[in-house]
Amino acid sequence: MRRLPKTLVVFDFDWSMIDVDSDHFIFEKLAKDLREKMDIMENNMVWTDMVNALLSELPARGITRSDIDQVLTQIPFRPAMVRALHLAHSAGADLRILSDANTYTISRILDNHGVRHLFTEVATNRGYWDHNDRLWVERYLRLDVDAPHECKTVNGKTGRRSCAPNLCKGKELRRMMNQNKYERVVFIGDGANDFCPSCQLSSNDVVLCRAGRVLETILTQPRHAAQVKAQVIFWNFASDILQAFENLFQSVESDDSVVALDRGIVLSTLDAVSVTTC
Ligand SMILES: [Mg+2]
Ligand SMILES: [Zn+2]
Repeated sequence: MRRLPKTLVVFDFDWSMIDVDSDHFIFEKLAKDLREKMDIMENNMVWTDMVNALLSELPARGITRSDIDQVLTQIPFRPAMVRALHLAHSAGADLRILSDANTYTISRILDNHGVRHLFTEVATNRGYWDHNDRLWVERYLRLDVDAPHECKTVNGKTGRRSCAPNLCKGKELRRMMNQNKYERVVFIGDGANDFCPSCQLSSNDVVLCRAGRVLETILTQPRHAAQVKAQVIFWNFASDILQAFENLFQSVESDDSVVALDRGIVLSTLDAVSVTTC
């Protein structure tokens, strides 16, 4: 049996580890009118600032911490995903989360499913409660405190930067990759801001891109696909992640670090060309 390559596994959270957007879900369940406002506000505001502004309206409506905690127990977190996380961890992978949600929500959800201890890092915006039962969300990168990430990865479709000013996931992924001598990186994502981290990977690495989401739209455009050297595998369900992990982390006598999935999941290995990075 061959030794498994030392692997860094980095998950986006919303629509990647869980089957909803956690910020959307909270307002959908507790304040539908605010959920509707999000669709307009997000065009003009940094996501984190918008969520923070909307959370400020909840205490006056009598919505408490226990209401939010109760809603977080309803977040769809599939048993197959829990199994996949345990599998990767027991195979020796370094598991991390890189998300534009917040520390409170993510930690709470991980705790609800008994998997928080499997992660060495959760890189995301700060979420914390004050004495008035108000949840605050603060940018991962704080203006006037942290150096700006200055992401230069551009979404060719919109002409805008792929990453929000509060968090360049590409830069953060590179920081994580430099912390150890990893032989392989597996990145799981779905959103527009998951394009920049996908551009940081090499041909030894894998992007597990959720089908039907924005990242798939980006990665299926040739000019964007050309910027990603990693093998890209599209997936639909948590059970697909479990199967992908079973393949990636099996101790087989093979030099292939990437094992193709079966069951009709779309696979594509993209040509390696020069990468525009942050
Ligand atoms: Mg996401
Ligand atoms: Zn970026």
